[in-house]
Formats: sequence, C-alpha cells, structure tokens
Amino acid sequence: MKPAGICILGSTGSIGQNTLAVIAAHPERFQVVALTAFTSVDKLFEQCCTFKPRYAVLMHSQDATALQNKLRVAGSKTQVLCGTEDLCQVAALPEVDKVVAAIVGAAGLLPTLSAIKAGKHILLANKEALIMAGDLFLATAKQSGAVLLPVDSEHNALFQCMPPGYQTGQRPVGVTRLTLTASGGPFLQRERTTFKEITPEMACQHPNWKMGKKITVDCSTLMNKGLEVIEASKLFGFNQNEIDVVIHPQSVIHSLVEYADGSQLAQLGTPDMRIPIACCLAWPERIVSGAPRLSLTEIGQLTFLPPDMQKFKCLALAYQALSVGNAASTVLNASNEVVVGAFLQRQMCFSRIPSIIEAVLETFYDLAANSLEEILLADKLAREKTFHLIQEGA
Ligand code: NAD
Ligand code: MG
Repeated sequence: MKPAGICILGSTGSIGQNTLAVIAAHPERFQVVALTAFTSVDKLFEQCCTFKPRYAVLMHSQDATALQNKLRVAGSKTQVLCGTEDLCQVAALPEVDKVVAAIVGAAGLLPTLSAIKAGKHILLANKEALIMAGDLFLATAKQSGAVLLPVDSEHNALFQCMPPGYQTGQRPVGVTRLTLTASGGPFLQRERTTFKEITPEMACQHPNWKMGKKITVDCSTLMNKGLEVIEASKLFGFNQNEIDVVIHPQSVIHSLVEYADGSQLAQLGTPDMRIPIACCLAWPERIVSGAPRLSLTEIGQLTFLPPDMQKFKCLALAYQALSVGNAASTVLNASNEVVVGAFLQRQMCFSRIPSIIEAVLETFYDLAANSLEEILLADKLAREKTFHLIQEGA
C-alpha cells in the first residue's frame, strides 16, 4: 500500500507534535509532505530533519530564510515557503491525502478551507475555523468530496459512537441527543468572587490535558466547551437544545451519543490526544496510538455534575451565539481570541473575559455570514470592538 501523504498545518504545536508522534510509529503508512509553523524556526528545523518533508512553511520571510539556510547546511532537501498563500498551497498539493488542521485560531481558516476545496481528508483540530465558517466548510466539502474527521477529543468520541457508515455534516439517523463532557478546568471549585485574582499562570494549569495556551485558558473559562457545543452543532447537525454539557472531572468518558431507544454510547480512554489523532489518521482502520491504556479499576470512580453557567458565563454566551445564528459564532470566537490574548499578556483581568465578549456579541449579533467575505468582516469588526473595550477598561 502506498503511504498516505500528510500535511500538518501547525506541526510545532501540541496537536502537531502529537500527530508526528503517531506518524513516527507508522513509517510504512504515512509520508510527511509538508510541515508548517508560525515562527518556531528551531522546532520546525528539528521536525524537518526527522520527517524530511518536501515543504516547510513559516509565516514571515526572514524566518523562512533562516530555516532554509539551516536546512541547507544540514544537507536537507526540504524547500521552505512563507505566508498564508503558501500555506494554502501546501494544503492543496496533489501528493497530500490528509491535512491535519492544527493551527490555533482564525489563522487556520484559509489554509483549512483550501484543503477542503481540494477534496482532502481533513483531520480537524482547529475548532475556531469551523466555528467561524462551519456552514461554508460543510457546503464546500459536499462539493469537493472532502471528508471532515474530528480530532477534538469530544467530537472524535461522538464520531466514533455514530451509526455505521456515518459521515460528518449529516444528521445521524436514530440519534436524539449529544452530551459533551468537560473536565471543569482548574477553577471548578473556586469562588467566583475571587476570579479577578486569577493570573495567566493559574489559568494555564489544566488538571488533565497538556495543550497550547489559548485552548488551556478557554478550558478555564469553559469557553472551550462553549466553542465545542457550536463545533458539535456544525459537524453533526444538532441545535443548541439537543446538545448537553456535563462536568466530568476525570476526563475518561470523552462524550456520549443518545439514541431514540434510550441507549447511550460513549467513548472512553486516557486523556491523551494521540488516541483521537490515531483514530483520524487511519480511519476507518485502527492503529496503535502509543497512548497509555485505560484502567477503570485504577480510576475507581467516575463523577458527573451540571455546569454552573452563572459562574462560567462563557458557556452560556456560546449557547446564545449558536441560537442567534448568522455571524454570532464568528463574533464570539473573534472576541474570545482577542480577550484571551490580552489576558495572557496581562492587559486585562480574567473576570472581564465574559463581560467583554457579551458586549461585543450584543453589538454585532445580527451580522450576516453567508460568504467568506461576510465572515471575515464579522471577525474583523468583532476584533476591533474587543480591542476598543479592553483599552477603555469597560
Ligand atoms: P498550539 O498553540 O500548541 O499550536 C498552534 C500551532 O499553530 C503551532 O504550530 C503554531 O506555530 C501555529 N500557529 C499559531 N498561530 C499561527 C498563525 N497566525 N499562522 C500560522 N500558524 C500559526 O495549539 P494546540 O493546543 O496544538 O491547538 C491547535 C488547535 O487544536 C486549536 O484550535 C485547539 O483549539 C485545537 N485542539 C487542541 C487540543 C490539544 O490537546 N492541544 C485538543 C483539542 C483541540
Ligand atoms: Mg475538546
């Protein structure tokens, strides 16, 4: 069997590195064609030396020149490209079969869309791009024959529990509800009145998963779960009243699908992203992921509780954005990206995160999102308004 050609958008991040770990264990199955990063020259250099891709892409030309020089000295034949256009090109190369969408945030939108247009298998981790442009993604995939495989652990769990032959974008027959599990993050037990004292270091401590900073902060506000409710709605065709969230601090059950007869199917595993990544890389076959095995007797107890949407307002805002429709999810996502960035740079306190997003949503709740241009405009307006509110100290 010819190895599958792989392009990893965001190969130096947490998902990117986990993907390469799975690929390294199956050299006969996968051939890395392209690796990309934002600015991490040294990490990308190491990855290029190990995986020998045909192309590497960085965002800025001076970084690309630095990487090309290092690679030439090391005797590598990898060609280094730069900028968004080149990202879009490598995602659509004919020798690429599977594209891992693992860039964080809206920056992943155009390259992921390029891969969808080219009819690839998309291993989708970059939830922000789907939330911004889910309808466009699905319509484009329908035309091109692209297949969207969810890497996000909850959505991967739901996907695995769907009826045989199920494809994302369809409403699954016989399924009545979806339940997403959430760890609850580091502030599950913390008093809401003390949220203003939370520092970036505190918010970057996730109890169960090791991930990039942005998603870790999103877990601490429960915005990550809110974004995942929208992600589930887009991928599986359910509305906001058909998707539940349950807090499950052990992160062992990754999500559940309820069928009309009352059966609930769940996927379980250790909290290790190599499991959903391996599932998507080999789908519909199964391969070794390298993740440790789950032992229920070692865990002993699994517990569940409802989310507190007063305390974690971001989750309520995401449900609200989903029910509004139009560009509200794009606006929510854009505003969240900006406030999280500002919080990480200590420009605003943790407790302002939901109030700023709420104000931006109220301002732009009825923007249209029928084309890429309208989506990008909603994203831009929401970002500008958010910057303004942060500076105003609103
Ligand atoms: P990360 O911050 O560790 O990595 C992000 C990657 O994207 C890096 O390779 C970085 O170089 C690249 N990148 C960042 N900004 C870019 C830009 N402007 N242009 C081009 N490339 C850019 O993030 P992560 O934790 O790996 O998450 C990646 C995506 O996967 C996010 O959307 C996140 O929500 C999703 N996700 C992550 C996990 C996880 O376990 N880490 C789980 C589920 C979903
Ligand atoms: Mg998740």
